[in-house]
Amino acid sequence: MKEISCKLLVIGAGPGGYVCAIRAGQLGIDTVIVEAGRPGGTCLNVGCIPSKALIHAAEEFEKVSHMAGGKSPLGISLAPPSLDLAKTVAWKDAIISRLTSGVAGLLKKAKVKTVQGWATFRDGKTVAVETETGTQVIRAETVVIATGSAPVELPFLPFGGPVISSTEALALSAVPGKLAVVGGGYIGLELGIAFAKLGAEVTVVEALPRVLAQYDAELTRPVVKRLAELGIEVLTGAKAKGLASEGQAGKGQAGKGDALLVETSDGKNARVAADKILVTVGRKPLTEGFGLEQIDLDRAGKFIRIDDQCRTSMRGIFAIGDVTGEPMLAHRAMAQGEMVAEIVAGHKRSWDKRSIPAICFTDPELVTAGLSPEEAKALGGEIKIGLFPFAANGRAMTKLGEEGFVRVVARADNHLVLGIQAVGQGVSELSAAFGLALEMGARLEDIAGTIHAHPTQGEGFQEAALKALGHALHV
Ligand SMILES: Cc1cc2nc3c(=O)[nH]c(=O)nc-3n(C[C@H](O)[C@H](O)[C@H](O)COP(=O)(O)OP(=O)(O)OC[C@H]3O[C@@H](n4cnc5c(N)ncnc54)[C@H](O)[C@@H]3O)c2cc1C
Repeated sequence: MKEISCKLLVIGAGPGGYVCAIRAGQLGIDTVIVEAGRPGGTCLNVGCIPSKALIHAAEEFEKVSHMAGGKSPLGISLAPPSLDLAKTVAWKDAIISRLTSGVAGLLKKAKVKTVQGWATFRDGKTVAVETETGTQVIRAETVVIATGSAPVELPFLPFGGPVISSTEALALSAVPGKLAVVGGGYIGLELGIAFAKLGAEVTVVEALPRVLAQYDAELTRPVVKRLAELGIEVLTGAKAKGLASEGQAGKGQAGKGDALLVETSDGKNARVAADKILVTVGRKPLTEGFGLEQIDLDRAGKFIRIDDQCRTSMRGIFAIGDVTGEPMLAHRAMAQGEMVAEIVAGHKRSWDKRSIPAICFTDPELVTAGLSPEEAKALGGEIKIGLFPFAANGRAMTKLGEEGFVRVVARADNHLVLGIQAVGQGVSELSAAFGLALEMGARLEDIAGTIHAHPTQGEGFQEAALKALGHALHV
């Protein structure tokens, strides 16, 4: 097969890689992208988008089930609904197909050449791609590694049979009767809540003393309360130990009467009956299996070490996205990808972002941007905090969404906003306003002085800033 030579080669077409390639193409750079699976990577195929589709379907199902139970204060009553999960999954797959073919079309429009297959480094400027029709060698002046990440497997709970990762959880054809979720981080809780709403009996096993432990307790309290309302049992300070199957017990085999073995917080052994055990204990960067050892890049722990331009320790090789570290989020990968394309085109760019907002699409949703109160206090200066509860927000009341709040953290001396957090129904959409405020260097007066449309939950943001200034109007 004839060798390909190009200016820029991108390995991996997840959100980091495909955005990098599209932007490079727009800038007239001769670009090739290699992808072993489908365009869109983890995010479009088995991550952000399919999980949000499942969460939406679960919310709708729970809403109508609630109404059918005669418990709706809205005065709506219905016959009990039924669910065809296979149909839900087919709907979700159709969304993925639309998006992945959309990405393929955008790459084509930007004149990026796509090579389908697994890439392996031969040296710092050459990769060999195993395609359906043979080995394709590609030489490039500059290479971007955007290989992403994979779910972490527990050695005593290997994936297979009843033990599943988020990927399998998003493709189940029936709702498991009993679901054990190992790991109470955002992925475990998003999926655990969705399956509970779809009718599964869910138990979350978390080794730390709290779920969503990277967020402060005030912020996660409404989520913890809702977990209890949904009947989700949460075992904190508990360690998963392995799988116990009755009958054909064995590694990764589904057996009648499967159970998760757990050491509870008081040191006792317990069995959590489970038809499926979803392991969501984190993700690891994909740094193996593609000849990275040939080029011996510096590492930062398990990640590839990068500088503020996403350059690795080898000249001409950049790395972006999950393979480069936390936060492992699609929008960080995209922003890095865009920046690297512009650097390759000769633009003066470096990483100067003030915040990477993070969202847990739990119920209620949770958003953080910038510094938490604790992180802001650790800077040493005095800070001001303004918190506005949705219980005092008209729009939230009309949506039965009074649980939660918006919280603004600012410097006390000049009122520069350092961080913004919110928890509540639908607050994910407020993340745009939070990110913009931090990026523009807003002060409390800027937010308080901006007219926010009424009635919206966004008014909670304005009121939180007013509260920090000492003159909130509606609390
Ligand atoms: C269940 C779940 C829910 C999530 N929800 C969210 C969310 O709501 N918001 C959010 O921001 N993030 C979310 N994430 C995280 C998000 O998916 C990742 O941060 C994002 O996909 C990282 O993008 P990336 O480009 O670095 O890598 P990836 O998306 O992982 O893409 C890497 C691509 O590289 C390809 N590849 C790897 N090695 C090779 C090779 N040698 N040759 C050829 N191709 C190769 C892979 O096939 C893959 O397609 C979620 C993840 C999961 C699992």
